[in-house]
Amino acid sequence: MSRQVNFAAGPSTLPYDVLLEAQAEFVDYHGGGVSLIEMSHRSPEYEAVQGSALELAKELLGVPEDFDALVLQGGATLQFAMVPMNLLHGGASGAYVDSGSWASKAMADASHHGESYAAWSGADGGYTAMPSPDEVEVRPGTRYLHVTSNETIGGIQMTQWPDVEVPLVGDMSSDYMSRTIPWDRFDIVYGGAQKNMGPAGATLVFVRRSILDETNRDLASYLRYDIHAAKGSMYNTPPVFAIYMMSRVLEWVKAQGGLPAMEERAAIRSALVYGAIDASDGYYRSPVDAASRSKMNVVFRLSSEELEAQFVSEASEAGMANLKGHRDVGGIRASLYNAMPIEGVELLAEFMSDFRRANAE
Ligand code: PMP
Repeated sequence: MSRQVNFAAGPSTLPYDVLLEAQAEFVDYHGGGVSLIEMSHRSPEYEAVQGSALELAKELLGVPEDFDALVLQGGATLQFAMVPMNLLHGGASGAYVDSGSWASKAMADASHHGESYAAWSGADGGYTAMPSPDEVEVRPGTRYLHVTSNETIGGIQMTQWPDVEVPLVGDMSSDYMSRTIPWDRFDIVYGGAQKNMGPAGATLVFVRRSILDETNRDLASYLRYDIHAAKGSMYNTPPVFAIYMMSRVLEWVKAQGGLPAMEERAAIRSALVYGAIDASDGYYRSPVDAASRSKMNVVFRLSSEELEAQFVSEASEAGMANLKGHRDVGGIRASLYNAMPIEGVELLAEFMSDFRRANAE
């Protein structure tokens, strides 16, 4: 089988070795005569898998002891609602760094459960930059400041966290497990697994334990962080296959050298693509502010949509899939998550230079 270099934005490429391991284990898990996905989620075999996934996630991310690690369903999208539902019940408001499509969605969802407002907005600038730390303004009576560490569609990433008094809540969906997190600043960090950590279906949420005493109790059970924490993320049936895959991907991350290795590779990969853009004399154009360039999702434009379509189609013929930009913004997007081999990005950089040579006027 020849595998494509897969630049998809999520669900996205996974380590080949993990896919093979999962395939080998799928039908008969560890010789027990049943598949893991046929077992009770209360079986010792499955409990070991979920326990190790959450322990490894905490270990790799250096999560302090006073945080609970939860694995939930509903994606980061359900967290857009659960955060305000659990935290805004006393009349406090939620501040949002409105940095792009995902942040805007989170802010809009919060408005159904309390007051939400933009403590900074990139709308006027076309969402092409993240704020500098002192530009973010939080009003009195604010419970948290929500940040989107990486805007997956816009291709911008926060490199400096806002300088505010209130705790941060972070949607880290698209740069989870690729960078260090300043835990002392956060009360909640969340994100789906389907970019850097596994397939879709599992959402990893870290909650500072001390806030669980104050979260809203007047909610349906699944929506309450305190219940999930008390039940060890086994309040209801967890997405067993997604969590199993996450445990294997996290073992792979550890074997590769952990977070420092992921961070270093992200820098190398993204520098290859930005290097190709910057060396192209404007043939490829990055629409985002240089200081906010994402290391996970590199977006760029060519001079026309026709040329962009030709680029995507020829890249696909050359073995590089899913380079088409998000349908809302067009252009090209190369998503460079943890499992993307550096050689795959070298191939893309080379292709960019060849394509330019062949098509520049
Ligand atoms: N936030 C960000 C930054 C995302 O990239 C995405 C998904 N691409 C979401 C939230 C929504 O996540 P989900 O599809 O897991 O609900």
